[in-house]
Amino acid sequence: MQNVTAVLLGMSLIFGSTNAVSGAASDPIPVNKEIVDPYQEYTYELMSEQIDKLAAAYPGLIEVKSIGTTDFGRDIKAVKLGKGEASVLIDGSQHAREWMGTNLILYMIDRYAYAYENNMKYDQYVVRDLLDHCSIWFVPMVNPDGVTLQQKGLDAFPEYYHDYMISMNGGSYNFKRWKANASGIDINRQYPAMWTGIVNSPKYPMFKNYKGSEPAETAEATSMIHFTYQIDPEIALSYHSSGEVLYWYFNTAPEHMARDKKMADSISAMTGYSQVKPVKDPSGGGFTDWFIAQFGRPGFTAELGPYQEETELPLWTFTDIWSENQNIGLYMASEGYKLWHERYPMEMIEENIQLLEPVQLYNRPKESFPVGGELGKVKVKTDARLGDWYRVPTWLGPKWIRLNQTPFLKGSSEKMEERINLRSPASVYKYPNQDNSVRLGELNPQEVQALERWNGWILIRTWLGDGWIQEQE
Ligand SMILES: [Zn+2]
Repeated sequence: MQNVTAVLLGMSLIFGSTNAVSGAASDPIPVNKEIVDPYQEYTYELMSEQIDKLAAAYPGLIEVKSIGTTDFGRDIKAVKLGKGEASVLIDGSQHAREWMGTNLILYMIDRYAYAYENNMKYDQYVVRDLLDHCSIWFVPMVNPDGVTLQQKGLDAFPEYYHDYMISMNGGSYNFKRWKANASGIDINRQYPAMWTGIVNSPKYPMFKNYKGSEPAETAEATSMIHFTYQIDPEIALSYHSSGEVLYWYFNTAPEHMARDKKMADSISAMTGYSQVKPVKDPSGGGFTDWFIAQFGRPGFTAELGPYQEETELPLWTFTDIWSENQNIGLYMASEGYKLWHERYPMEMIEENIQLLEPVQLYNRPKESFPVGGELGKVKVKTDARLGDWYRVPTWLGPKWIRLNQTPFLKGSSEKMEERINLRSPASVYKYPNQDNSVRLGELNPQEVQALERWNGWILIRTWLGDGWIQEQE
């Protein structure tokens, strides 16, 4: 509900003035005002602290929320960057030892937010313009229990659980190779995409590769699934490590091959990562697999960094990882907005609308995306239309209202401050239309106070309350 207050408060401040023009973009980004230092090991606690700091530093631009809770009580956190109604999704650390993805994501949020605030460019991308149209949702650490076990070992977990963890780790006290969640289930083999056919799954919980006893039985996978439906992203990318390769195919539909391959080529060109050749019956269960299969949209898995044995990437690899990936989020936002536009073919027309009753606000022109708040009886300037949906600019980005039932005036009404004479009896209506259901009553010829004129109708003050009558000749 906090969100709602913010939206409405913002609206009352900014109506009429649309987005600022982003002309003064310049290059390069000065490396200052950093909150995130990517050359350190990001624990769950440090990550949580810093994403809160980022949200505080960039109010309205960065939003943090929990999308679920793990077996050991850690929150799976999501960070929204941007004010755009379209969205793309980037996640990291589905696999515990692959937490370099968390560092990359946090630094991306930090740098993009800074660029937005200062109206700067990354490469050809004008960050503010882009993020005003397409938001990037990040889940920096999908598997916080697993990452904690990999980084801190047994000490970070209750003692009664230690023996079991050691046995899942093949008798070893060294957890550096840990990939699963802390319950020994591989989260990236948990998604319902040809789950039955997953190859090389151990029969029992283990430090890696155990797919679980059924799909989506872990909190991590179910949280990601629900969250993905909720934000409905145009493109999704999972950061893993290692090996500098890119996956983009999972039984991709023939009609999507060209679209997805083209994007894979662009990502390869930016990162230098080589593409994994499409195979006929891929082993499934991965988040990207599920996203491609379920949404029919482009999904990618990028393996960061030079190939490592079974452990994390060393921190020094971040320099190259950053230069390879610094534009990826913006590239996705740019492509995502194009895809979103194809799905919602709105007309870009400005209209003045006066609401006669409050109306619900939506994030998108669809009933399933409510903001959870309403817009009062105000005059608004809409900037786009799709059927009976109208888009309203707010300081939190564009929101939608549906005018299929709410009475409203199109165009502007003219204020009146005069008394007029009714020469014949007049029906008074609550709204300016001749519908019996909104008819308030009948007035005999008399002098009345006129308040407003619109489209052949006049709003007058009567003992029945304020009501509309048709203008008399
Ligand atoms: Zn992985």
